[in-house]
Amino acid sequence: KKYTKEEIREIVERENVSFIRLMFTDINGILKNLEVPVSQLEKVLKGDLMFDGSSIDGFVRIEEGDMYLKPDLDTFLIFPWGTEHGKVARLICDVYDPNHKPFLGDPRVNLKRNIKEMEKMGFTSFNIGCEPEFFLFKLDELDHPTSILNDKGSYFDFAPLDLGENCRRDIVLVLEKMGFEVEGAHHEVSPGQHEIDFKYENAVEAADNIETFKLVVKTIARQYHLHATFMPKPVQGVNGSGMHTNMSLFTDKGNAFYDPDSDLQLSQTCQKFLAGLLKHAASFTAVTNPIVNSYKRLVPGFEAPVYIAWSGRNRSPMVRVPVDRKNSTRLELRSVDPTTNPYMAFSVILAAGLDGLKSDLPAVPPIDRNIYRMNKEERLAHQIRDLPQNLYEALNWLGKDDVVVKSLGEHIYRSFVNLKKLEWVSYSQTISDWEKEQYLEIY
Ligand code: ADP
Ligand code: GLU
Ligand code: MG
Ligand code: MG
Repeated sequence: KKYTKEEIREIVERENVSFIRLMFTDINGILKNLEVPVSQLEKVLKGDLMFDGSSIDGFVRIEEGDMYLKPDLDTFLIFPWGTEHGKVARLICDVYDPNHKPFLGDPRVNLKRNIKEMEKMGFTSFNIGCEPEFFLFKLDELDHPTSILNDKGSYFDFAPLDLGENCRRDIVLVLEKMGFEVEGAHHEVSPGQHEIDFKYENAVEAADNIETFKLVVKTIARQYHLHATFMPKPVQGVNGSGMHTNMSLFTDKGNAFYDPDSDLQLSQTCQKFLAGLLKHAASFTAVTNPIVNSYKRLVPGFEAPVYIAWSGRNRSPMVRVPVDRKNSTRLELRSVDPTTNPYMAFSVILAAGLDGLKSDLPAVPPIDRNIYRMNKEERLAHQIRDLPQNLYEALNWLGKDDVVVKSLGEHIYRSFVNLKKLEWVSYSQTISDWEKEQYLEIY
């Protein structure tokens, strides 16, 4: 435990904090907050702060408007950027129902439920390290995002090709002040595209970190008169933005994915977990790639995966096993994109992997050839399936998979599918510019 209530009172007093933002995440992965003046601190610490959850996407049945915010004291921190009204702190909260019970419609509460299941199987942590990518666009004179990228740089470039480096450095410095261990930052392949990597954490903290990361990136970008977007495919014809998700299970003896005596030094636990990931991949994709635009990234030719397979050597399949071993032994799931709700993503991924262990799935052989050069028959012969091609297909797969549905829980599953079906209908009924250009004159 990092902080007691008493310590938080002390810091708030000493640092002269004026406001506290109580943060939680809706079902779309969008960070929400209720800000209270510091006079409310005692109420906050008691978990007695009520809010009306009925307007939060995916949260509430009409009869349960009033919910409680129960702060996770260990998430306390003071934002390093100032305001003219004094210092602002934050606490990430779990949502509780009107009877003061954890509300299973809250993705963070639900992830904790999945972690408990994992602990029953003898694991102490599900470690997650993500590599979120994003684009920087210029703002116009009204401060609205334009479609003009901030530079023409490419992979690992220096200025003047990379014009994001000052902004990126500021983001890194702020992240470090907020306790992140930043492992590296660089220009990505596409113009205006960037990546910042930070150290892995337990799943709940890792998800908190992703939500905080996005907030920091967007906030600092604004100071440079830029708009940061985590939309997976904002620019046609160039690489999109993924969020590679590296994962491993630890026990009190260390990394359970590592075994010096097994094939490739990957333990039975790792092989079965991997088999579970591959088995359930098509059905958890609706969660890890949740928007219509997600599927415009998952196409051949842009370093994003299209097929359900794994390899220890090449980067084209959905899962890569990086060469690091010992405590860094991990699986890298490359399909995930940064629009996913990370609490929900880690719930479905964990459940998929653990199902591999519970069902004692046989190890799946790696595919070390370039899958994009195989034809449909060769892929079938190697039992390589396709990832869903659009949100509609992904939702169909999701509905058929009990393991994945159960890991979301009844409430989240229903709210999520309802929202996503509406999104799909709205998209599929839209007449796009492409259609008008293609069809209007010739037919
Ligand atoms: P890439 O080789 O794809 O560029 P990076 O080096 O950028 O990968 O990122 C690797 C990520 O994996 C980092 O977030 C790192 O902290 C994380 N990581 C390292 N070891 C583990 C582990 N045992 N479990 C989960 N994540 C890990
Ligand atoms: N941008 C690529 C994607 O869409 C990933 C590139 C990389 O390997 O970092 O997933
Ligand atoms: Mg990258
Ligand atoms: Mg990677």
